[in-house]
Amino acid sequence: MDARIDRVTSAANTWIVGDDEEVIVIDPGDDAAAVLAKIGDREVLAVICTHGHAGHAAAAIEVADRDAALIALHPADKSAWHEVHPETDPDISMEEGGAFEVAGVTLEVVHAPGHSRGSVCLYCEALEALFTGDVVTSTGPVARADGYPDFGKQLDAIGAQVLTLPPDTRILPGHGDEFTVAVAEKRFDSWVAAGQDGWRLKHHDDDEIDDE
Ligand SMILES: [Zn+2]
Repeated sequence: MDARIDRVTSAANTWIVGDDEEVIVIDPGDDAAAVLAKIGDREVLAVICTHGHAGHAAAAIEVADRDAALIALHPADKSAWHEVHPETDPDISMEEGGAFEVAGVTLEVVHAPGHSRGSVCLYCEALEALFTGDVVTSTGPVARADGYPDFGKQLDAIGAQVLTLPPDTRILPGHGDEFTVAVAEKRFDSWVAAGQDGWRLKHHDDDEIDDE
């Protein structure tokens, strides 16, 4: 297995999963040129958006178009997507249990609503990695500029879809640095305790401040 994971950071983290021949892009962010430079001459099979917010999905069409790749989004995030790309629909409606193959590994679609209704994580068992978008970062569940759309649901999703994975699983989030399921498990109670207003105390520079 030669699959590896590359990272580009613009408004959000972009994760590129693939080998020397082909890749899948998770969250193209807002800098298509930087993402395409990192991909080089490898073929883009698909562009997966963990959700439809601008900081994560703005460059989706430009990145996908180079190799006529398909764009995947959960249907519950279509209205968020259309705020960014009013003229275009995603090509693939991702649902819980769906899967993508690239470079000999599988990315499984895990529906994790809360941050947005159509937020998903992508789980790659072979690479022991979970791509979480804004479901959870190392500082906790990501809010939007005006707070959490559904804090309870987001915590439920973290409990059911993230903390149930093997503790050594790498969490590759939409913002900031990677951490592990074991670390998330340790911090989870403090995120619950911080509650709905905990996000106001944080100072991470993510796109959620201005992408509405
Ligand atoms: Zn978001």
